[in-house]
Amino acid sequence: MFSYRHAFHAGNHGDVLKHAVLIALLRHLTLKDTALTVIDTHAGAGLYRLDGDYARTSSEAAAGVLRLLSDKKSAPGPVIKRKSAPDSGADEAPSPLLADYLDTLAGFNPGGGSSIYPGSPFIVQRLLRPQDRLKLFEMHPTDSRTLAANIAQLEAGRQVAVLREDGFSGLRRFLPPPSRRALVLCDPSYELKTDYAAVAEMLAEALKRFATGTYAVWYPLIPRPEAHDLPRRLKTLAQRAGRPWLNASLTVKSSRLPVRVDGAERRPGLPASGLFVVNPPHTLAPALQAALPQLVRWLAQDEHAHSGLEQGGN
Ligand code: SAM
Repeated sequence: MFSYRHAFHAGNHGDVLKHAVLIALLRHLTLKDTALTVIDTHAGAGLYRLDGDYARTSSEAAAGVLRLLSDKKSAPGPVIKRKSAPDSGADEAPSPLLADYLDTLAGFNPGGGSSIYPGSPFIVQRLLRPQDRLKLFEMHPTDSRTLAANIAQLEAGRQVAVLREDGFSGLRRFLPPPSRRALVLCDPSYELKTDYAAVAEMLAEALKRFATGTYAVWYPLIPRPEAHDLPRRLKTLAQRAGRPWLNASLTVKSSRLPVRVDGAERRPGLPASGLFVVNPPHTLAPALQAALPQLVRWLAQDEHAHSGLEQGGN
């Protein structure tokens, strides 16, 4: 049933946005001593190799995280020349949110380079304190096995649980968490058209059970009615629950034009994505105001690249 494998997409521009924000959310939520429960409803395999066959085949990391690293840290790896503005910002220092993201990645590559890319489970686990808990849902038979094996190597004991179950329906079991502090990352593959409605239904129920949790939903911005509607539906849900929200988006290229990379024509691929956060920390919007224009400059693939940042309910 599932053909999506995140290994093909690890480190793409969607991951850059999602993981940079995830780190910022965790930094804020771990400032208070009270235990935090993190629930990743769609966890993937946990850890990826950017020098492996999957990543090489898709080259998505080359147009994502490897671009940032090649400019900022001279990491090895394919570099795609920017086709956009002459002001590419190549010499600019990364904003604090992006610097934290790049430093976190460097922590997974202690010998230098960028061959290991951490997925959300490994990023979260790295930033947890002993009192915190991590619940990981992953349904793909191969990826859930790989995830379980990767997590076992961390010897994290009871702190991390891997569940081979549907994350959409499994989330409710953990809400509200005992300490009444939770971060939920909902990052489906959107392989099924029904995923869009499932995200909205999941968030509606979660907000009823636990309105003060922090919820981060990643979504693709693609020319498809369900995708177009999703951020609007999420806003309505947050507004009805009386909760503040933030919606950040990053577009790297037009959704219509075929792209030419180093002279060769490529399939268009993901043009843009967004992250919708309910109950964001107050520090997130200013951090993104600095980071998003940099991501546009560094990751632009054509002149349609731009970012968006909206907030409500504050
Ligand atoms: N969150 C990961 C990260 O940032 O590293 C990437 C996750 S990937 C976009 C989505 C994953 O969800 C895939 O590995 C897919 O197999 C899995 N999946 C699809 N439907 C699911 C469901 N209903 N419940 C749990 N996992 C599911």
